[in-house]
Amino acid sequence: MKSIINSPTPAVIAEAASLLTNGEIVAIPTETVYGLAANALNPAAIEKIFVAKGRPRDNPLIVHASDLEMVRGLGLEIHELAARLAERFWAGALTMVLRRVADIIPSEISCGLNTVAVRVPAHPVALELIKACGFPLAAPSANISGSPSPTKAAHVFADMNGKIPLIIDGGDCSCGVESTVIMFDENKIKILRPGAVTAEMLSEFGEVVVEGYHVGADDSVRPLSPGTKYKHYSPRAEVIAVEGDVAGLGEFVIANPETQTLFAKLREFDELGAKQVFIRLPEPCGIGLALYNRIIRAAEFNVLKVENEKF
Ligand code: AMP
Ligand code: MG
Repeated sequence: MKSIINSPTPAVIAEAASLLTNGEIVAIPTETVYGLAANALNPAAIEKIFVAKGRPRDNPLIVHASDLEMVRGLGLEIHELAARLAERFWAGALTMVLRRVADIIPSEISCGLNTVAVRVPAHPVALELIKACGFPLAAPSANISGSPSPTKAAHVFADMNGKIPLIIDGGDCSCGVESTVIMFDENKIKILRPGAVTAEMLSEFGEVVVEGYHVGADDSVRPLSPGTKYKHYSPRAEVIAVEGDVAGLGEFVIANPETQTLFAKLREFDELGAKQVFIRLPEPCGIGLALYNRIIRAAEFNVLKVENEKF
């Protein structure tokens, strides 16, 4: 089966909704990265996501809803702080991990955990499609697990051709990194994965704790967000994260990483045959924290410290 890439015309949205209703998986644009969507209430469809991505079985999926009203029907605890954050940041790049209070979302979504991660995406095509379906969509990034996340339909095609019937081309993702994932600890907001909704923005709503964004993949500690323990976001080339000046380090260098272009550049460098890619680590604050998190994982925590500016 060759995957078809189509623009989001009303007919294509209707076709995608029909495929999803019938338990198929479809790649869709979101404002963060392209997602591989399935009916979040259908365990057989969810299984297809894990198979197509080669996703580890203990890495739970995010459920995407069209609005807070739809989330309210999913049997999750929406406490006051969660409702206030939803009001402020949805539709948008904030994922909240909420406790299950009723058995509506299949356990396959969250790999047996007693919580479910949810968000309302801001992309008009994603929203229109969820509304057309009438059910929420599980939608992890539409790449092979471990490779850089797709920010263009062509990236999805490169990873998923032959595995899925349809890719909806909504143009380049405006955000370019995955959503911020948070969970709650009393009134504290714990950032499990940094993203475009920054710690600074969340701190208006309470104390914010960033879960070890620079620690290695230590299997002795059970990570709060299982997906964060894997090698991630990596091109075929070896990635070296650089603290300090990157000038003179080689041909394939990202001196000023930006969210919208980081993943696309990693894929581009692979196509050019890069063996090593050097990326300068940004200051880990604001949106820089999200970049730092992705770069350090793409580099498998391999950091080169350049002391001398002239190196
Ligand atoms: P992605 O594959 O980009 O959609 O990533 C989903 C992220 O959300 C991964 O880091 C998961 O570990 C995290 N996640 C999803 N559900 C949960 C959950 N119930 N508890 C904690 N983290 C979760
Ligand atoms: Mg992913």
